[in-house]
Amino acid sequence: MRYKLVAGNWKMHGSLAENQALLEAIVPATRDLARVDVAVCVPFPYLQQVRDLLAGTHVMWGAQDASRHAKGAFTGEVSADMIAEFGARYVIVGHSERRTYHQESDALVGAKCQAVLGAGLTPIVCVGETLEERERGATEEVVARQLEAVVDAVGAAGLSRCVLAYEPVWAIGTGKTAAPEQAQEVHAFLRRRVAERDSAVAEGLTILYGGSVKGASARALFSMPDIDGGLIGGASLVSEEFVAICKAAQ
Ligand code: 13P
Repeated sequence: MRYKLVAGNWKMHGSLAENQALLEAIVPATRDLARVDVAVCVPFPYLQQVRDLLAGTHVMWGAQDASRHAKGAFTGEVSADMIAEFGARYVIVGHSERRTYHQESDALVGAKCQAVLGAGLTPIVCVGETLEERERGATEEVVARQLEAVVDAVGAAGLSRCVLAYEPVWAIGTGKTAAPEQAQEVHAFLRRRVAERDSAVAEGLTILYGGSVKGASARALFSMPDIDGGLIGGASLVSEEFVAICKAAQ
C-alpha cells in the first residue's frame, strides 16, 4: 500500500513571520497522523528558515523549481545541489505556472527532473491539461505527452524515485476542484501508461492531485484508489485548512 503525501506549494507567498506562525501551527497538529507524509515547498530564500524550524520534526520541505544545470554562468538560477544542502527532500518540477509564465517545455521539465534526481532529491513532477485542451477531448494526449518527456529523460527507474502530480490547469487557483471521479480517471490513465513501461513502478508511484483542494473536498478525492494525496496551493497557507487536508488523507 502506498503512503499518502500532502505537500503544500506556497508559491510566491510568505514572510519570515508568517512562515513561522504557519509551521508552528502545522507541526503539532499533523504529528500523529498514520501513513501520511507532510511536506511544504517554499520559496528559495526561506529554505534555511524552514530547515531550522522543521529539522527533527516529521514535516519535510522542498523547493518549487531547480535549474537543469549543475553549476555555471546562469544568473538567477538555483541548482538542485544547492537545494539539497538545505536538507530539502522535494523539488516541484514542471508546475503549470512555470510552463506557462516561463515557457518551460516538456523536454526542459525532463532535464530538470534528471537534475533533481541527480542531487538525491525527489521531484514532484506536475502534469495537467488546460480547459481548452479538456474541452476538445485532449486531456489524455496532453498528460501522456508530458509524462513521456519525463520518462524519456529519467527512465522507468528514475520515475520510481519521483512523485507525479496531476494538476488540471483549469482547477488551479480557480476554486473549481475536479470531481473525484474525474480526477481518478486521469490518475488511473497515468498509472496505466507507466505500467506499460514497468508495472512495479506504476504500482509504487505516488500520484497527487492538485487544484483548489480544500479541507472540505480533500477526503472524497483522497478516497479514490489512484489518488495518493494532494499538492496544495492556496489552502496550504491557512493552517486550519492545511491541517484538515492532512487529516483527510488518513
Ligand atoms: P490551488 O490549491 O491554489 O488551486 O493551487 C494548486 C497548485 O497549483 C499546487 O501546486
